Parts: sequence; structure tokens; C-alpha cells
Amino acid sequence: MIILVINSGSSSLKYQVREGDDVLAQGLIESIGEEWVPDHAAAIEHFDTELAVILQGKTIDAVGHRVVHGGERFGEPVLITPEIIRAIERLNPLAPLHNPANVLGIRAVAQKWPGIPQVAVFDTAFHRTLPERAWRYAVPDELYTKHGIRRYGFHGTSHDYVTRKAAEFLGTPRENFNAVIAHLGNGASVTAVRGGRSIDTSMGFTPLEGLVMGTRSGDIDPSILLFLAREGYSPEDLDTLLNRESGLRGLAGTNDMRSVEKAADGGDKAAQLALEIAAYRLAKYVGGYHVAVGGAHALVFTAGIGENSSSFRSLVAGQLTALGIELDPDLNELRGSSARVVSTAGSAMPVLVVPTDEEGAIAEATAATVGAAAAAGS
Ligand code: AMP
Repeated sequence: MIILVINSGSSSLKYQVREGDDVLAQGLIESIGEEWVPDHAAAIEHFDTELAVILQGKTIDAVGHRVVHGGERFGEPVLITPEIIRAIERLNPLAPLHNPANVLGIRAVAQKWPGIPQVAVFDTAFHRTLPERAWRYAVPDELYTKHGIRRYGFHGTSHDYVTRKAAEFLGTPRENFNAVIAHLGNGASVTAVRGGRSIDTSMGFTPLEGLVMGTRSGDIDPSILLFLAREGYSPEDLDTLLNRESGLRGLAGTNDMRSVEKAADGGDKAAQLALEIAAYRLAKYVGGYHVAVGGAHALVFTAGIGENSSSFRSLVAGQLTALGIELDPDLNELRGSSARVVSTAGSAMPVLVVPTDEEGAIAEATAATVGAAAAAGS
């Protein structure tokens, strides 16, 4: 089955064409809205010519879309229908930057290839299993009932995929697998997995909560916002401040971990402090989630930083000695593109690096959803 995976943003569209584990084509169309790519339909035309050459007469069987917010309704991937599109649009207030852009991608595909089934795979879906004590904020009920304010969690496709791969790697049946999964990329979140399911996660109502990220602050005292609002900051100012100017960028001047590490190695005190703060925050979450899952069987690192930065992994592990976690310096330095152990044999739990593959997971979910719908219809 040939699957086109689309991650549609407001001004960019990332695509990948997969046949099983093979990636046949991939790319990123940027500057949507400019004269040369006026809209998402034009973005598709840009790579359609390339696709025709690569597919050599074969056709795309289905399209899988990364949809950021599935709200409380979507806990599984779904076949897209006009009703599903409306349901995704009803969630726009919860993800004003993302869901409308995801729908633009869905509509552009429907216009280009009306007969091809499309599937929505939601970033929030894996966290639908959170118990209420983890998803409720301690605020009056009407904030939830009127405005939908609760923890939703994000990066679910990655956390789900990495959980499955880590359990397989350790030879543990997923339903018995407890773990702490750290997805550390430009956006970063950590998930507590118990019995193979998400029971808590660091991102909340939006992807701002939790860890120190590339440009996002993660956890701060909410009163800081009230203080700044009284000082004259507008909602837009606060949004920009906490989502785009904070995190590693706010602390060290750059959101790119490689640059922060290089600066820290060169003696830059601000960069060294940024790394310490980010590692400390993550270590506290790992400790908390170890308790939440009733004893983790593994700590798993994934995504750009988690997979590639041995020094950040060792900074975090250095703060987890109370849990008996111990990295093997040689294993930690080894590079590789498959799941691997980076801890010592004596470590209280294995520490793993498991490469994530969100596009692969979306393609797989898309094929399964289309297959199930076809079976149900036949
Ligand atoms: P992602 O969002 O998953 O693509 O991850 C992006 C982040 O991974 C950026 O902060 C990169 O600097 C970081 N990253 C990628 N490769 C490395 C590396 N070899 N060492 C440290 N950080 C890295």
C-alpha cells in the first residue's frame, strides 16, 4: 500500500510517501501564502510532478494527516468524512494555529484526489487514557465544562510508537510495560506509561507546559502572566514571550541544542546554565513519573536531542542516581539508527535510545484504518 503522509502547517507542508518501511519520497514546501505557493493546493502541485516520476504509474492508496488536536473525542485514527472535518474544525479554538492548517491540507488533498481515502491521526490521541486525576487542573469546574480547559497532552503519535518499539526491544508484552518516555526535540515532552498506555504527560492544555524546550518556557508560575499583564503585556506579547522567546533561546540565546552545547563547551556560562536547567527539569519529571507508573521498567530517550545528544542524556542521568540509573559512557557515545541500550548492566533500569518515526507511525495507522474500513464495508 502506498501512503502519502502529510503534516500541514499554516505556511508549510511536510510530506512523505511510504510503501511499508520504504520511504519513496519526502520533502517540505515552505512559504505557503507567497506568490509562488499561494495556498495548500498549490503546495501539493509542487510535489505532484516529482511523485509522478517516482511512482512510475503506481498510485497513492491513502493519505494520512497529522492532526494536532483531537480534543476529547478522538482516541484513535479515523477515516476522514465531511463530519470528521467539521469535528476537527470545532476544535479550532483549542489549537488555533494548528487545526485550521491541518484542515487546509485535508481539503487540498480532497480537491486534488477526490477518490483517495484520507485518515486523521491525532497528536493528542495516545493521551486519551489519562486518568482524571492527571488531566484535571485544580480550577473551578466551569473552566473545563465551558472552555474545555484540561490536560490533553501532545506528541502522542511519537510516544505511542516509541512505547511499542521499546517494549518489543526489551521483549516485554506491551500490556505489562511501564516506562518513562522522553521525547526531546525542538518541542519536548515526557510521558508516564503504565501497562503500555499513557497515564500522565508533561504537555497540558497546550504544548507549552512541562519541559524546557527550544523556544518554549515549559512550567512557570501562572502568576507571572498576571504580573506581566498588569505591567502592560498584551495576550499576544505573552504568547510570543513564552512560546517563541523562552526555553533554550531565552536562557542561552539560541533554540538549537547543538549550538547551546557548543557554546557551553566553549565556556559560555548562560549556555551551561540553560543545559543544567533543562536537565534538572526533565530529571524531576522522570522521578515523578517513575512513582506515577508504579516503578518504570525503562527510561527511553527519543527525538532530535534524545537520540543524538549523548551529553544531554548523561547530564539527565547524572541527576537520577537516586533511582539507581547509571549510563555506560561507551554505549552512550555509540551512534545508531535502531533501538539500543545506553545504561550499564548494573543500572536499576535500562536506559534506551529508541528512534522515533512519526511519519512511519502515521502511515501504518492510515493503512490499518483504511484496511479496517474496507473490511467493515465488504
Ligand atoms: P527535532 O525537533 O526532533 O528535529 O529535534 C531538533 C533538536 O535536536 C534541535 O535542538 C537540534 O539541535 C537537536 N539535535 C539534533 N542533532 C543533535 C546532536 N547531534 N547533538 C545535539 N543536539 C542535536
